[in-house]
Amino acid sequence: MKEDLVNILASIVGEENVKSDIIDRYCYSMDASIYKSIPDVVVFPQTTDQVVEIMKLANTNEIPVTPRGAATGLCGGAVPIEGGIVVDLTQMNKILEIDLDNFCVRVEPGVIQLQLNQELKKQGFFFPPTPGSKKMCTIGGMISTNAGGMTAVKYGVTRNFVLGLKVVLASGEVLSLGGKTLKRSLGLDLTQLFIGSEGTLGIITEALLRIIPLPEETAVIVAPFEDINEAAKAVNSVLNHTIPTAIEIMDRGIIKAVNAYVPELNLPEVDALLYFEIGGTPEEVKKQTELIVETCKKHKSNNVQWTSDPSEKQMLWQGREAAGGAIMNLDKRLVRVYEAEDVCVPISKVPEMVKRFQEISKKYGVPVGLYGHAGDGNIHSGVLIDVRNPEEWQKLKKLTGEVYETAMSLGGNISAEHGIGVLRAGWMDRILGEGLHYVKKIKKVFDPKGILNPGKLGI
Ligand SMILES: Cc1cc2nc3c(=O)[nH]c(=O)nc-3n(C[C@H](O)[C@H](O)[C@H](O)COP(=O)(O)OP(=O)(O)OC[C@H]3O[C@@H](n4cnc5c(N)ncnc54)[C@H](O)[C@@H]3O)c2cc1C
Repeated sequence: MKEDLVNILASIVGEENVKSDIIDRYCYSMDASIYKSIPDVVVFPQTTDQVVEIMKLANTNEIPVTPRGAATGLCGGAVPIEGGIVVDLTQMNKILEIDLDNFCVRVEPGVIQLQLNQELKKQGFFFPPTPGSKKMCTIGGMISTNAGGMTAVKYGVTRNFVLGLKVVLASGEVLSLGGKTLKRSLGLDLTQLFIGSEGTLGIITEALLRIIPLPEETAVIVAPFEDINEAAKAVNSVLNHTIPTAIEIMDRGIIKAVNAYVPELNLPEVDALLYFEIGGTPEEVKKQTELIVETCKKHKSNNVQWTSDPSEKQMLWQGREAAGGAIMNLDKRLVRVYEAEDVCVPISKVPEMVKRFQEISKKYGVPVGLYGHAGDGNIHSGVLIDVRNPEEWQKLKKLTGEVYETAMSLGGNISAEHGIGVLRAGWMDRILGEGLHYVKKIKKVFDPKGILNPGKLGI
């Protein structure tokens, strides 16, 4: 990038908030996915006005701009595939307002999920969407990917908690969308359009989020099943009576990996292990616990464990929490690659999806551990390959294709919460069909020169 443009950027955000040497730029070339591409410059705006000036400069000079939160994304969304400017929003990290009279908070995009919930906890409230990356991921990143997590079964995903947004468009124009009312019937909803748009339509510089009171008490129930079909029946039966905060599942492969990673957990190596979390008043928790324990037993689960004691709860959750980190233990010579890692199927199809994924893994000789959110049909996978071997990448590509086609044939989709980014951009035609044509038209309306996060979402 021309030096005079870097100088103009420095005059907008301050010299200390621009990084243009190669080592710094390399650090901003990646997220948690397999992709890497070095930007020409990285800027750290502090205000919406600065983002406006950055966008005006970029638009006039047709420079690609990639918004970036904490870069925990798993599909290359924050990777500057075409170079240009990375706009890192992590320094816009203030909680601007906590409005308990209207059950909402106004935050800057760089606020971290856990930071927000630690503040809200002091007031007895919380912001429910909880990705596994909650200690790192930003609200801006969560909104832009419509992040989910374990609590989605009861509360929904990020989309369900966004009341309003401030967005800077490619031209530098600022849109203030939504407001503090809980309901609105005002025609097309632009706030919702920006949620999940992965930085391709505008840069979010402020968000108004709905919050709710913390449950008085919570409990955890863990139930092993020799047959995954019985586990699925138990989930269905529970959901017929109550909606737990979380219903998580681990398959045999991932249980083995967790046992190798944390041997003292000594999890039962069964077809499926279910984790339930429930919350409410102590009476409600007691009643729900009884219902879930009885239901699991009825579906042939022996050795069901449950507790509402805080330190015991932590112990019980350890197995599920270790799942992501444990995957490498399936075969330590191989490397985990984030591919086919986020399919979603109607919840009744979870056992079939798990079984078919296991078969596909066997067919290609690619080890896999499966875990995820049984309560909403979202199955995560950890697939392992020898990344030095090009043939392994070919196998992985075929495996991914079969997994996606299987999910779609079961009435599901290829990403529940991680998003599209670069990783799945090539699938958008297949997923949206005719719809992609209209999505491309929407992109043109907001970003006619195509400078915002090019190469993402298949647009
Ligand atoms: C260990 C681990 C566990 C995870 N668990 C979950 C999980 O349970 N559920 C889940 O949903 N995801 C999960 N993720 C994925 C990831 O954490 C989420 O997608 C998260 O929302 C990304 O936030 P981020 O701040 O890191 O965004 P980034 O990765 O920096 O960016 C993600 C996308 O948002 C865009 N973007 C970021 N900020 C803005 C902004 N202010 N304006 C416009 N666009 C913006 C970027 O351009 C990019 O396209 C996990 C990731 C890891 C590494």
